[in-house]
Amino acid sequence: MSPATPAAPRDRLRIAIQKSGRLAEPARALLASCGLSWRESRDRLFCYGESLPIDLLLVRDDDIPGLIADGVCDLGVVGRNVLSEQDLAGQTDSNARFRELRALGFGGCRLDIAVPDSWSWTDASQLAGKRIATSYPQLLSKWLAGQGIDAQVVLLSGSVEIAPRLGQADAICDLVSSGATLTANQLKPVLTLLESEAVLAGPAVDFEGMRAELMELLLRRLDGALRIRRSKLLMFQAPRELLPSLLPLLPDAEEPTVMQIDGEERLALQALCHGALTWQRLEDLKRAGARGLMVLPVEGLLA
Ligand code: ATP
Ligand code: ZN
Repeated sequence: MSPATPAAPRDRLRIAIQKSGRLAEPARALLASCGLSWRESRDRLFCYGESLPIDLLLVRDDDIPGLIADGVCDLGVVGRNVLSEQDLAGQTDSNARFRELRALGFGGCRLDIAVPDSWSWTDASQLAGKRIATSYPQLLSKWLAGQGIDAQVVLLSGSVEIAPRLGQADAICDLVSSGATLTANQLKPVLTLLESEAVLAGPAVDFEGMRAELMELLLRRLDGALRIRRSKLLMFQAPRELLPSLLPLLPDAEEPTVMQIDGEERLALQALCHGALTWQRLEDLKRAGARGLMVLPVEGLLA
C-alpha cells in the first residue's frame, strides 16, 4: 500500500481528516457510521478503504484546504473557521475555491471578538483604532471592512488570548467554545464573526465519472447517518384531553404512536423527533401535562 501519492486516483475518493486533535475521532467515527472501513498504513498517515474505494489521509487540520485545492485530496473534514479563512486567503476575483458540502454537527465553536473585562462595551465602533490579535486575519479583516472599522490586525499563530495582558493587542478575535479560556484571561466575548463546526469540504468544481458517483453515495449515506444522530425517541404519558396542547410542542416529530393505558383517558406516546430535545423543551412538555418523559437514542432507522 502506498502512502499519499501526489494526486488522488480517479477511480477512488480520498478524504483528508485531522490526524489528532478535536476533529480526528469524531470525523472517523462519522465516516465509519457510513459503512466505511479501512486498512491503516504502517506510518498511520494513510487509511486504505476496504468496504468502498474511499481512502483517508491523516493530516494537520490547517493543511486540509490546501490539499483539496492542490487535488491531493478530493474532500476534507475541517472546521468552517479554517476553511473560510483559507478560502479568503487564496481567492482570486472573490471566487470561492471550496464548497461546504455538509455541516457535520461536531467541533462546534464561534469565532468571537473579545475585549478586556474592564471595557464597558457598547458597540463595534469602539474597536476603531485598536489593535486586535488573531490567527484569523482574513476573516477579521473582511468583517472590519464590512463594518467600516479601521483597526489594526495583529497576526499571532497561538496563545492569542494572552496578547492583551502582554500589551501586544487591545482586543482579540479567537475561537471560543465554553468561554472558560476567555474568563481565565479576564476577557469577555462581545461579538460573533462566525458560527463554526466541522464540515465536509470539497473543491468548488464538480467531480466527474467514478469520483462523482462515489461522492453521491457518500453524501447519501452521510445524510442518513446525520439524521439518525439528530433523531431521538421521545416517550411520555399524558391524559387524552391534553394532547391538543402537547402535539404543537413537537413540530419536528413524526406522527406519534399513541397507546391507551388505564382505560380511555390515559395515553402513552412515542414520537421520533428529528431536532434537539433540550431540557427547555422537556420542561415545556412537562408543564403542558406530559409525565414520565424519557429520551432514547436511535441506533438505526429504516423508513
Ligand atoms: P492540528 O495539530 O491538526 O493543527 P489544532 O491544534 O490546530 O490541530 P484543534 O485544537 O484540534 O486543532 O482544533 C481543531 C478544530 O476544532 C478547530 O479548527 C475548530 O474548528 C474546532 N474547535 C472546536 N472547539 C474549539 C475550541 N474551543 N478551540 C479551538 N478549536 C475548536
Ligand atoms: Zn491546526
